[in-house]
Amino acid sequence: MTAKYVIIIQCDLTHRRCSGFACTNAFYNRDGLFENYPDDTRYISFTCGGCCGKSIAAKLEQFSKKAYKKTNLEKNEVVVHLASCMITDNHHFDRCPHVDYIKSIIRKKGYETIVEGSYISAGASKKRAAKVYNSYE
Ligand code: SF4
Repeated sequence: MTAKYVIIIQCDLTHRRCSGFACTNAFYNRDGLFENYPDDTRYISFTCGGCCGKSIAAKLEQFSKKAYKKTNLEKNEVVVHLASCMITDNHHFDRCPHVDYIKSIIRKKGYETIVEGSYISAGASKKRAAKVYNSYE
């Protein structure tokens, strides 16, 4: 599958204290988990909308309609990344307790390709290795 569009879904609680720069920068630099995306892959980021992530359904619905209308984008051309702030224990919070529910919403909306992670912090990775932070890998 050629990814024409990447969606990063960020934890809404984290977004209150994080601009999202590191994830956006990692995407544009094609660092880490983003390294295999072609240069012309597009990108959008939005938050889960707050616990329990239910508003992702409406956001994805709106994205689907607009993206298809404006660019003919099909759902199978999209990769959804769950941001590292959501799926790891990190500087902000521990892993979101609603990840499985959030994944079920995304799949129900027709997006089958889901990747756990976005920007990978070297500092947080070291703390996970040292068991300062919990690890879920
Ligand atoms: S549902 Fe999870 S990702 Fe969303 S705000 Fe709550 S803890 Fe963060």
